[in-house]
Amino acid sequence: MRLTRPETKTIVLPSGKLFLIKLVPFTPRKPSAYKRRKQREAAAGIGWTAAEWRTLCAKYGDHCLNCGESILLVPDHVTPLVSGGPHALSNIQPLCVKCNFRKGLQIIDYRSKHASYEPETADCDGHCGA
Ligand SMILES: [Zn+2]
Repeated sequence: MRLTRPETKTIVLPSGKLFLIKLVPFTPRKPSAYKRRKQREAAAGIGWTAAEWRTLCAKYGDHCLNCGESILLVPDHVTPLVSGGPHALSNIQPLCVKCNFRKGLQIIDYRSKHASYEPETADCDGHCGA
């Protein structure tokens, strides 16, 4: 296989010196994992506020819903974003970092095992009788 020579451009400086510049075609870089995650979150919903997150943690007793530890809790998507889950509080459960990592991309709802769990119902303005 024969390699093609890169395109070059010669620049003449006011002092008379010549510079040869190799022109490289622009190839966009893949966005970072953080940026790709933020893009998935933006596409999947509106998210939640810090106050809503604290309320959710308090609802489940400020404990990890899997192991019961009361250490730093992180929001875990019950249905992961990559599996099409919404980035909304209705899809969030508080887990410790270890349990969140262990759960990975599995769809496991630890909320249903908790006493204060109330299944999400469809939005209703009262006229359906619910
Ligand atoms: Zn845990």
